[in-house]
Order: sequence, then structure tokens, then C-alpha cells
Amino acid sequence: MVWRLDKRRLVIREKPLAAPRKQEFGDNPVETRLSENYKNEYVKGFVEKWDELIDWESRAKTEGDFFIEQLRERGAKKVLDVATGTGFHSVRLLEAGFEVVSADGSPEMLAKAFDNGKQYGHILRTVQADWRWLNRDVHGTYDAIICLGNSFTHLFNERDRRKALAEYYAMLEHDGVLIIDQRNYDGILDDGFNSKHTYYYCGDQVSAEPEHVDDGLARFRYSFPDESVYHLNMFPLRRKYLRRLMHEVGFQKIDTYGDFQETYREDDPDFFIHVAEKI
Ligand code: SAM
Repeated sequence: MVWRLDKRRLVIREKPLAAPRKQEFGDNPVETRLSENYKNEYVKGFVEKWDELIDWESRAKTEGDFFIEQLRERGAKKVLDVATGTGFHSVRLLEAGFEVVSADGSPEMLAKAFDNGKQYGHILRTVQADWRWLNRDVHGTYDAIICLGNSFTHLFNERDRRKALAEYYAMLEHDGVLIIDQRNYDGILDDGFNSKHTYYYCGDQVSAEPEHVDDGLARFRYSFPDESVYHLNMFPLRRKYLRRLMHEVGFQKIDTYGDFQETYREDDPDFFIHVAEKI
């Protein structure tokens, strides 16, 4: 509603409600392969649905204390969550006693994370920041950086990946640790998709399936019980390639886990988790 002075009378005019922003992938969605496009993908409608997709309770059960233990083993106290999303890991780590700063490039995601944090009794310290210019917007150094939920896959070219990894590296203390996870794209590229959605995408009412896969794009379709459909365009990162990039940027020791296990068959897990140490 807007108050407007009309001659000498005060009148109230109804302001038309803005239509909700739709996801944008351009004219040919399978040709949209841009690191910038995540902001057009995480629109409010999809962000509102995200927690249905990931289901906090089942996700907490399946991942257990994996990340908390990895961080505690390395004496980490101050953690930067660079892909906060709706805040799942930021909230978990705050509850476990870590000091957390929650960054993300999407204002919609950060707003939702802030609301979710409040529901759990926390005021999240949020910063809107794109990974490629992280040091410009986030200050200080951290014992650990986490980039979880298959987020790094939003970067579509190698220069952006190297830039983001270098920014993470620079923000870590000398003995800091970076934890990045990724979907097992090797399995999808080489053998097709067979995910049982046991990890991360735990909401059992939601289907997440690849609609198009080639060496440069994995386009996933997310269908919800109310018949709404959203998509994400992602780059299918190969496990060895990402490990190599992390080494090249300077990380000295990288342990890779499959679905939270130390030993795994390469084609089997849904997700890989890389724990990369600076020294
Ligand atoms: N970590 C959360 C989770 O596991 O539920 C969110 C995962 S969601 C797949 C990916 C997140 O990465 C989104 O919140 C998106 O806004 C963020 N993101 C993608 N590209 C980014 C970039 N270049 N800089 C900052 N954030 C980015």
C-alpha cells in the first residue's frame, strides 16, 4: 500500500504486487553454462522449497557428526561457511560450539538462512559474498572453510574454480582446512545416474534427476509434491580433477571420502567429500 497526497486529500492506492521472480536459463537452457547464473537459479520460490528438498532432520541423521569431528580433530574453532544456502551447516556448527560466519552469493538464500537460524535460537553472522571475490567482502582469517551441498559445481570455468580456491586458501590460517563436497559426477558421466538420494537430498517427497548430462553440463530437475518444478545447471566435476586443482592451488594433503566413509568403491558413492589441509 502507498500513501499519496492527492491535491488536498490523502488517498491510499493499492500498489500492484510484484510477480515472483522465475528461474532464468535463457533461450536455450542447456547452453547456459555460466558461473554467474546461480543468482537466477536460487529464486525465492525455489529457496522456500530447498528445505523440503534437503530435510534437515534426515540430513543430520545421515551425515552424523562427520564434519564436526573432522573440524574438531584439526582444532578448528573459527569456521567460514562459504555456501550457507538455507543455513543447515552454519546452524549445526553453531550448536556444536564453533564460531561461524555464514557467507553466500545469493541474498535470497542468506535471508532464509537468517530466518532458519532465528528459529534455532541463533543470530547468524551473514555476509553476501561471491567466492571469486571472497577476500573483498569477508574479512579476517579462519581455521576452516566449508563449501558443502554440491555447491562448487556452480562454477563453470577453470579460471573461476582456481580463483575461488585461491580465495579460500588465502582466508585460511596457516594450518587451516578446506572441506568441499561434490556429487559423484564420474559415476553419472561414465555409468549413468543411479542415486538413491540417501545423502543430502533426503526429502523423500522430492525427486532430483538429471535432465541433461554432457562433459560440460549436468542439468538437474527438482520436482515437488505441489507439482512445482525447478532446475539447476551445474558443471560435472570429476573427482580427480578437483583434487588436482586443490593441489595446484597449494593444498598439501587431501583426503577424499565417499558418502562419509574412508574406503569406498569409486563408482559407488553418491557424494565425495574432500578434506584439504593447507600444510
Ligand atoms: N550448502 C547449502 C546446502 O548444502 O544446503 C547450499 C547448497 S546450494 C546447492 C549452493 C549454494 O552455493 C547456493 O546457496 C548458492 O547461492 C551458492 N553459490 C553458488 N555459486 C556461488 C558463488 N560463485 N559465490 C557464492 N555463493 C555461490
